Amino acid sequence: MHQIKNITKIYETGTLKQKALDDVSFNLRDNEFVSILGHSGSGKTTLLNVIGGLDRYDSGDIVIDGISTKEYKDKDWDSYRNHSVGFVFQSYNLIPHQSVLSNVELALTISGISTKIRKEKAIKALKEVGLEDHINKQPNQLSGGQMQRVAIARALVNEPDILLADEPTGALDTTTSLQIMDLLKKVAKDRLVVMVTHNAELANEYSNRIIELQDGKVISDSNPLTINEVTDGKHENMGKSAMSFLTALSLSFNNLKSKKARTFLTAFAGSIGIIGIALILSLSTGVNNYIKKVQEETMVSYPITIDRQSFDLNGLFESQDEQDPQSFSRNNLSTPLDPKAVTSNSNSLERMSTANSSLKDNNLSSFKKYLEKTDNNIKPYVGKNGIVYSYTLNFDLFTYDEENILINTDGSSFSDEKPQLDQFQGPSGSMGTDHKKISELMPDTGKGLISPVIKENYQVVYGKWPEKYDELVLQVNESQEMNLSELYELGFLPIKEYQEILDQINKGEKPKLEEKKVDLKTITTQPFFILPSSEYYIEGDKNVFRDLKEDSKSLENLVEEKGIKIKIVGVLKPKEDAKTLVITSPLAYTRALRDYLIKYNSQSDVVVYQKENPTINVLTGLPFERDTIKEKIKDTYEYLANLSLKEQTEFMNTFQATQTIDQDPISNESANLDNQSDFAEQFERLVDNLEEEDLLSIYENAIASESFDNNMEKFGVINLDSPSSINIYADNFADKEAISSAIEDYNQTVDDEEKITYSDFTGLIMSSVTEMVNVITYVLIAFVSVSLLVSSIMIGIITYISVLERTKEIGILRAIGASKRNISTVFNAETIIIGLLSGLLGIGFTYLLHPPINQLLSNLIDSDVAMSLSLTNGLILILLSVILSFIAGLIPAKQASRKNPVEALRSE
Ligand code: ADP
Ligand code: MG
Repeated sequence: MHQIKNITKIYETGTLKQKALDDVSFNLRDNEFVSILGHSGSGKTTLLNVIGGLDRYDSGDIVIDGISTKEYKDKDWDSYRNHSVGFVFQSYNLIPHQSVLSNVELALTISGISTKIRKEKAIKALKEVGLEDHINKQPNQLSGGQMQRVAIARALVNEPDILLADEPTGALDTTTSLQIMDLLKKVAKDRLVVMVTHNAELANEYSNRIIELQDGKVISDSNPLTINEVTDGKHENMGKSAMSFLTALSLSFNNLKSKKARTFLTAFAGSIGIIGIALILSLSTGVNNYIKKVQEETMVSYPITIDRQSFDLNGLFESQDEQDPQSFSRNNLSTPLDPKAVTSNSNSLERMSTANSSLKDNNLSSFKKYLEKTDNNIKPYVGKNGIVYSYTLNFDLFTYDEENILINTDGSSFSDEKPQLDQFQGPSGSMGTDHKKISELMPDTGKGLISPVIKENYQVVYGKWPEKYDELVLQVNESQEMNLSELYELGFLPIKEYQEILDQINKGEKPKLEEKKVDLKTITTQPFFILPSSEYYIEGDKNVFRDLKEDSKSLENLVEEKGIKIKIVGVLKPKEDAKTLVITSPLAYTRALRDYLIKYNSQSDVVVYQKENPTINVLTGLPFERDTIKEKIKDTYEYLANLSLKEQTEFMNTFQATQTIDQDPISNESANLDNQSDFAEQFERLVDNLEEEDLLSIYENAIASESFDNNMEKFGVINLDSPSSINIYADNFADKEAISSAIEDYNQTVDDEEKITYSDFTGLIMSSVTEMVNVITYVLIAFVSVSLLVSSIMIGIITYISVLERTKEIGILRAIGASKRNISTVFNAETIIIGLLSGLLGIGFTYLLHPPINQLLSNLIDSDVAMSLSLTNGLILILLSVILSFIAGLIPAKQASRKNPVEALRSE
């Protein structure tokens, strides 16, 4: 039972105060059909809205079932509307983008009733109004009468206590009106129906009570109810009125579905920022992946190399900031410039001193000991190619051409005639003037002879991989070519031809160079001879060993007698997908030969003898060190007396040059046999005339400069504990950095002399490239973020427009019990859907754009930079899009929730 007590409602528009309801009082029975009659503007709608809780009264009270509504909060009114009241409007007020069934279900949805029951109840309500066949239609597919029946079904679906109808037949023709009135009468059988109408006929015919309004006042009541004052009941909550987020989503989703084109355009515009960021991220990921790949591939070619002598690059770089000597910076900025003087600038001298002190000796033997410890800090980061220790191995490689002429493959057989071609025509992979035609193949770190790196990058075109010390491989290029000069110098082609070509070049003529072919079989039968360094030293008289290196006559015999015969067993060429070409010379041997030669040299006569007499230089027969001047002079005389003819010539030339004595230098020709006695006389005279000072200087230069270690090196003795360089291979860049820092840690723990310095060019360059790519990426993202911001603002505006468009829907939702919060949820749902769509579109487009852009990139820069966007990044960007548009839509959504439901309903 409703008691309307002295209700007043005043509208204020500007200065005008409109009393829409003026002290209205009456009571309503729980079950009656009340018609409210009155002229337009008499306050009927206002009264109905106040009774239904859609509008608030200014003063008075409405007591519902003995409970005053004075204390009602918003959520109590929401709940009251949702559970106890059903509204029917003149203009039906169906939500156009929802199906008939959904429209009816809506009220139940807000009450939080489960889907199944909801559907059952809605269908039942639609059956009651005779529309069971139309449940899946859209409202605009129905006639006016049918729409009003849907509205009645919606009002009744929650089984409310009271149905409020505001001119329900106002827009209908007479026949349809009567049908609706019949329906309402049926409804009124078991509940309270209050109907506003200005049709007195209909009111009289159908309702059982008529209340007449005029200017906001009740002027008549055909069947008033007077009751004794009822006892105050307790206000109770009528159950929840809440809309799940899912309902909000489906409401907004259906709304957006009805505006497909606009939604798509909005989402597309919103996606542009996302596409921008996603593309930049993809590109930077692509570039970084590419850099990483290049790093990993070059890791094999660029290990951390620690040489016995190294240059501290960092020190040098620091001092070379201002390299242009013309514009060097002022030395000392703190002193004022003196215009009357020229001031000294010591930059370049400082630089020189830095450069000089940058040259460091590395103690590789103690570092090797550290590396061989089982628990060193470097070990965990060493890659699959391990640590390779290199030793300078001295030997010469000889061969014979088809006319049996002996050739030293280092090119020295032609050195007089040969123009400096090697600078330009060095073996592939090597730079500079290295004449060596042979090098060691990168060894396996395990038991095997050859590193897997070699086998991964090279293939055998003929023969097999070397297995023994006397087996070599020959390297050719991808098209099975070799430098013509190398073919000659390796004796595959007649040396005379080569000599002629070189002669022509030296004369400035253009030699006729024909294409030559060497049979693969010929290559593998070509004999090569290694002459180890120790074999050059032959014991002469008085236990003094002579060096036969320059003696071309004995050389031929030496090679014949002592040469170690080796042969090419395989021809290699780089694989098509070779990543790194590590063989730097045409010929290559395995570490089996290295070990063989180390052993060979250490057992040679000269080495054994030198080791037995460690204080005596076996090459001169003189002690390495002397204490007294007298002894030194004596040794110098002995040294001079024992010089060979050739050595005497050299000595005289260099000595005279340093003494600047004005005398013709003795040329090589003068040392021939014809005037040998003349020359001997000359030399003797020179020696006799030497003063003590000269003799001592000769002693220092020629005798004291030699040492046991020097000799051992000459004889090719290698101490396995003391490599000439150490190469540490890592598998990836991070490991390489870790090794670098482990070496730094090692340096912290050892004495200054044992500290290790090395230069890591690639690391220096690569890390700065990565850094640069990152910086560029951030800058680009910052730029593109602006577009993201713009698209967010746009989404906010679109949402605002949507709020304007859906004002009516807001009113309807409020009328059937939705709270303010439910309304903002509906619009938040809309922005979230748009944000999600933008994100999905953006990421989808980005993935679609990847192949053509990759194609373009590979055409443009000819490298395999492949754009790639990780799924995580893609999801993060979609989330970002959702969040941004959600934020952009917050204000319009809030605004929507604040809309007055009555005004919202009135809007068109
Ligand atoms: P009826 O439904 O009987 O035609 P209403 O209840 O709609 O009358 O209106 C009663 C009076 O209150 C009218 O004079 C109308 O102009 C005024 N009124 C109604 N709503 C508003 C409003 N939102 N602002 C100002 N005046 C209003
Ligand atoms: Mg009205």
